[in-house]
Amino acid sequence: MAFEGLHVRASELEAHCRLIRESCDPIRLSDWLGAERSLPPRPVLVTFDDGYRSVFTLAKPILERYEIPAVLFVTTRPAIERQRFWYDRMAAELGESAVEDAKSCSYDEWSRRLGELAAGRLADGDPHAPLTVDELRSLAQHPLFELGGHTSTHPILAQAGVDVQRREIEGNRQELESMAGVKARAFAYPNGRPRIDYSEESIRLVREAGYEVAFSTRPGFSSPSESQWERSRFLMLAGTSGPELGHRLAYSWSRTFHST
Ligand SMILES: [Zn+2]
Repeated sequence: MAFEGLHVRASELEAHCRLIRESCDPIRLSDWLGAERSLPPRPVLVTFDDGYRSVFTLAKPILERYEIPAVLFVTTRPAIERQRFWYDRMAAELGESAVEDAKSCSYDEWSRRLGELAAGRLADGDPHAPLTVDELRSLAQHPLFELGGHTSTHPILAQAGVDVQRREIEGNRQELESMAGVKARAFAYPNGRPRIDYSEESIRLVREAGYEVAFSTRPGFSSPSESQWERSRFLMLAGTSGPELGHRLAYSWSRTFHST
């Protein structure tokens, strides 16, 4: 797959879930939004970005086995249009470095480059496939899952003007509502690096769109002292074993990223 290091294998996810179930207190978004100061001692909120089908086909059975809730931040247009995410289309045609390059372009230039890619219909069983609308509906009804926003097409928000950002943020929330009947409460910024991938303007638009909380990709333990619109997360990459995750949670992350 393109960006293989960003895709955790099912066996790794299983090891992470076993560790979280045995050593931590998995929580759902509602537990956290309602009463952040009265959570269990080791609360863990699992999140997935983008909305690959593999969340449904591979991750869901594992999360069910360990009864671990998760929030899924969905980029909606690829699900509706049955197309790969833009970065997977571009990586397949031009290589991964072209994607990194495109992320630093203005929105207009990024759109122009995307327009030059072949349309490329999804093949059955494509590991890059986004969730189908039926699968999104099914996850919206599932007791362990909650759907959140992640823009309509996954642009770098900080590179776009205010009108485009609003369309991406509000349009995504409306698409989630019309597709799956949910009023999304949480949002994750595409790519997620503060002041690089999103701006103060993006934050304002996310607030205005009706969200209650938003997540960045800045590594760290989330805490009530953080802004509700820029909550930290730890990114899990492929190749992280269960014992390694345990070590990070109990030792290395705790030493580097103090929680308050
Ligand atoms: Zn993403």
